[in-house]
Amino acid sequence: MEVCLVASICIAGHGQQSVDLVVSGGIVVTMDGARAIYQDGSVAVRGDAIVAVGPRADIEAKYKAANLMDARGRLVLPGFINGHTHVPMTLFRGLHDDVTLNEWLYKYIFPAEAKNVNEDFVRWGTRLAAAEQIRAGVTTFADMYYFEDAIAEETKKAGMRGVLGETFIDFPAPDNKSEAEMLAYTEKFLKRWQGDTLIHAAPAPHSIYTCSKKTLQDAAELARKYHAPILIHVAEMKKEWDDSEKTNGMSPVAYLDKIGILGPDMVAAHCIYVDEADRKLLAGKGVGCVHNPSSNMMIASGVSPVPEMRAGGVAVGLGTDGPAGSNNDLDLMEEIDLAAKLAKISKMDPLALNAKAAVEMATIDGARALHMEKEIGSLEAGKKADLILISLREPNAVPIYDVYAQIAYSLKGSDVETVVIGGRVVMRDHKLLTIDEPAVLQKAVEYGKWVKKSLGME
Ligand SMILES: [Zn+2]
Repeated sequence: MEVCLVASICIAGHGQQSVDLVVSGGIVVTMDGARAIYQDGSVAVRGDAIVAVGPRADIEAKYKAANLMDARGRLVLPGFINGHTHVPMTLFRGLHDDVTLNEWLYKYIFPAEAKNVNEDFVRWGTRLAAAEQIRAGVTTFADMYYFEDAIAEETKKAGMRGVLGETFIDFPAPDNKSEAEMLAYTEKFLKRWQGDTLIHAAPAPHSIYTCSKKTLQDAAELARKYHAPILIHVAEMKKEWDDSEKTNGMSPVAYLDKIGILGPDMVAAHCIYVDEADRKLLAGKGVGCVHNPSSNMMIASGVSPVPEMRAGGVAVGLGTDGPAGSNNDLDLMEEIDLAAKLAKISKMDPLALNAKAAVEMATIDGARALHMEKEIGSLEAGKKADLILISLREPNAVPIYDVYAQIAYSLKGSDVETVVIGGRVVMRDHKLLTIDEPAVLQKAVEYGKWVKKSLGME
């Protein structure tokens, strides 16, 4: 017997409340303020939000689930947050590697983009990236590319959460050929997605080395008019720092501050060349930073001072970047592992960044870096129901002594079994439910052939 008092709250038998989903009996790693872990825990979900998290017995006594998901033998975690990527570039994955960034950009990627990138390309690339990211437990990603409105449509169809940045760059892009067009396109894009629960539209001025002061300021002004974040690459290579010192007489971070861009709505990818004064500015202004260890190593661009940034109060998330030319996959669990190891080897200190810190960067600190910590990043009542189940019934998953070490150093993206985003199950027992995976894989292979042909590689 069930009595509905108001539309959203029903009282079930024995004083129990009805909920849509209970994920039951897993090791629940909440990433909440106390970093609580429930060895035999459950999560209750109603609509797109978490209603309660706690010991299984408590949740079972209080809630009656329309849908019960057995999580025994699994870790239950907040979904991973990929803080920086360019999803349609999945279709350029492995196009040409092991070259300098300059050669890769000018000889391969810019010609490949000029000849191939259109709305259809972007849609198929986004579908491929959504499949890959969901499989690896990513529930939210931040993107910077072209035709971002089409990326938003595909992201929403896949049921993923996205902070999606339309690129501003001072040369004709595949979608918009002038700054006026970029501004008009982006304003329409921002208006369209206002208030959407999954999609956060944003302007993404590429960087200080590809955007004039005016382009940067116009993009920021537009972001602030619509309360959107600003996505940008910051201090990602030595040359950027050197040129900024020469031209602006200050570091890239100081320059962005001087021209009024730095603020609590900015998401800065990389932040490799940031000195102590820069780190103070980033922390003081509430800027979110995203560390991309695979990319930084693959392009040999440098080592971001992550431990120093964390110690200085900067919110530092994790990203895959790429996925072409600077990583080649979208597996955020690999970045957790590499973030810890890169910090350790670069300082010759195994204590430089520990497993727990690296897991924080992929979850709650990743949410802080995207300025979305009130919504996502931990399993807590009131937050969005973005959660993943990772199998502990794999040879690389047992035995388990320390949960964070297991996540960082032993488990793989492919161990992710089930993914829930905003209360919707998008992957169950390794089966994708929102994406026609065979069609996407076939199309990606076809695109590979067309791209090769367009560059005279066949
Ligand atoms: Zn990037």
